[in-house]
Amino acid sequence: MQAYMTQPRKRLITYLHSHADETLSAGQIAQDLPEISVSAVYRNLAALEQDGTVRKMAKSGSREVFYQYMKAEECQAHLHLSCKSCGKTFHMDEAETEALLESIARLDGFTVDRGDTVLYGVCESCQNNKRRDGE
Ligand SMILES: [Zn+2]
Ligand SMILES: [Zn+2]
Repeated sequence: MQAYMTQPRKRLITYLHSHADETLSAGQIAQDLPEISVSAVYRNLAALEQDGTVRKMAKSGSREVFYQYMKAEECQAHLHLSCKSCGKTFHMDEAETEALLESIARLDGFTVDRGDTVLYGVCESCQNNKRRDGE
């Protein structure tokens, strides 16, 4: 892959960065960036996913794929928690990551690749919403 950045990609990264705490579908991104063609949005998202700038995730009950910006270097140091209900990604505390991975290494002799590992579940606010709904 070439190192230089094309204009649409730069624009896309700026956009994703300013929405770092949100998960966005490709359709949503394309809508917010009318100056980039839809096919370029998809193409660039695929490239950014490959180099770890964005993470692709699925939400339960939705066929759409969502993307979230990852701070590449910081995010190599900790695990991520992905909520299956709202699709949000949470960045686990580094010390917490360390403690968890240490115990896995000790008990199972297994070294977890933290940059690539996502734990799926339901986040606190989604759990609270469920409770409120009386589910
Ligand atoms: Zn992270
Ligand atoms: Zn959630």
